[in-house]
Amino acid sequence: MATGKINVSVDNIFPLIKKFLYSDHEIFLRELISNATDATLKLKHLTSIGEAKVDYGNPIIEVKVDKEGKKLHIIDQGIGMTQDEVEKYINEVAFSGAEEFLNKYEDGAKDAGIIGHFGLGFYSAFMVAHKVEIFTKSFKEDAEAVHWTCDGSPEFTLGKADKKDRGTEIVLHIAEDSTEFLEENRISELLRKYNKFMPIPIKFGTRTETLPKPEGAKEDDPAPTKEVDNIINNPNPAWTKQPTDLEDKDYKEFYRELYPMQFEEPLFHIHLNVDYPFNLTGILYFPKLTNDLNIQKDKIQLYQNQVFVTDNVEGIVPEFLTMLRGVIDSPDIPLNVSRSYLQADGAVKKISSYITRKVADKLNSLFKNNREDFEKKWNDIKIVIEYGMLSEEKFFEKADKFALYPTVDGDYFTFEELQEKIKDKQTDKDDKLVILYASDKEAQHSYIEAAKAKGYEVLLLDSPIISHLMQKLETSKEKISFARVDADHIDNLIKKEDTQISKLSDEEKEKLKANLEEVIDDKNYTVQLEAMDSDASPFIITEPEFMRRMKEMQQTGGGG
Ligand code: ADP
Ligand code: MG
Repeated sequence: MATGKINVSVDNIFPLIKKFLYSDHEIFLRELISNATDATLKLKHLTSIGEAKVDYGNPIIEVKVDKEGKKLHIIDQGIGMTQDEVEKYINEVAFSGAEEFLNKYEDGAKDAGIIGHFGLGFYSAFMVAHKVEIFTKSFKEDAEAVHWTCDGSPEFTLGKADKKDRGTEIVLHIAEDSTEFLEENRISELLRKYNKFMPIPIKFGTRTETLPKPEGAKEDDPAPTKEVDNIINNPNPAWTKQPTDLEDKDYKEFYRELYPMQFEEPLFHIHLNVDYPFNLTGILYFPKLTNDLNIQKDKIQLYQNQVFVTDNVEGIVPEFLTMLRGVIDSPDIPLNVSRSYLQADGAVKKISSYITRKVADKLNSLFKNNREDFEKKWNDIKIVIEYGMLSEEKFFEKADKFALYPTVDGDYFTFEELQEKIKDKQTDKDDKLVILYASDKEAQHSYIEAAKAKGYEVLLLDSPIISHLMQKLETSKEKISFARVDADHIDNLIKKEDTQISKLSDEEKEKLKANLEEVIDDKNYTVQLEAMDSDASPFIITEPEFMRRMKEMQQTGGGG
């Protein structure tokens, strides 16, 4: 048994690590399982190229809680380490990595939460353990097993171990203030959160499996059972496969796997798969969305090589897409950085615009290939599309071709179709196209009927951000304007030759007008007595379009 001193400038890295990542202690388990996974995948690679002459077999990683001994074990069957390698990788590399990390971020740079997701590696074990042991045996021929111990000070011991099997076992002696990590439920929760899709099977305890009854068994004979490894992860999640190998039902199944509590099926999916100029895979789902702008976000999960990183993808995908669900996996997203850095990062910008483009292309192909179905789904997806059109110019250009504008009668037009349809009838004195819309079919019923009686199309636009979108369309298209059916007398909006004549006498009109104005007592509204075509409405009360829109936009905040 030898002792040694790790060559670092800090005396005791343990309190530093602990202080630094106070809120994020739980990531130690992800770090250790990532190392175990790396070690296993390295062995897989070495055996596949003939460099390691061992049987790779079907290795698993095991996590074991020893509550009485106050220990947590992480055991792998990977490449293991020789004594020299422990010296090098654990005493030098890992420690210097941890030290470098601390030096870099110690002075309060822990902004925006993403720091701390990665980078500490092996030494994050000291966030929860007062002592860490490594038992390891290299795959190399004649390698002797090694035992390393350290209590977080730069002193360590290194000696022989009597480990028989290839691989590494990390033993954490859990500290008094971290006993939560001796609870099976807590460990289960962490495994579910971080390791659900890691590429090597992870065993945590056993479970009872019910076997089929043997032939000739009686009706009320109990079915035989057996104890099997409780594997907590799916090592081959859908996003790691080729889109051509998957069917619609596979995508739906994966959605349920991601969101077990979500009973509603997604409307459609988008499989992301690119390896140049950056590497990114993933599957995004369009859930049914309501008109509620405060829809839960944080539903897209970010992974790096199948290791969960975060479910806050702000800064990585454009904001309007954070309403979607699914998984993005990319090793090219820098993680030990702040959000503001992230947004300025070139690779991240490219990733963001790639995702935007893929979403637009998918929507476009759905629109082109099955318009009827697209129209059916419109109400559930419009909020994302409208939001995207408002916030991303590139998306606007694409979506302008498939964004739909429904009429009060349930027809759906693209903007171009709408223009074509109304261009002969609905122009004002400046030759501007007047697009009439209603926001509430019931409340604006009589106005709608009156407009329809004159042969005008009335759209039904009821999204919370529609006033912003209308303004966007008015500024980006030539000679169009939106007007709500009750905005003004229609004949003031639209140039018409044959103006209707009121059924009331001039005297009656004036009287009625005076009475109504007294009742309304609000200067924002105008009483208009010009009779409309339908007999039901001898007069109308209007609020100018710009007044109402201003109020609405104040309510929904910025956006354009
Ligand atoms: P990183 O994983 O980023 O290299 P870590 O601090 O997590 O940094 O680990 C340092 C090194 O220790 C690894 O690169 C690896 O060489 C070695 N190591 C850690 N855990 C294991 C393990 N379970 N099996 C084999 N080697 C390991
Ligand atoms: Mg690591």
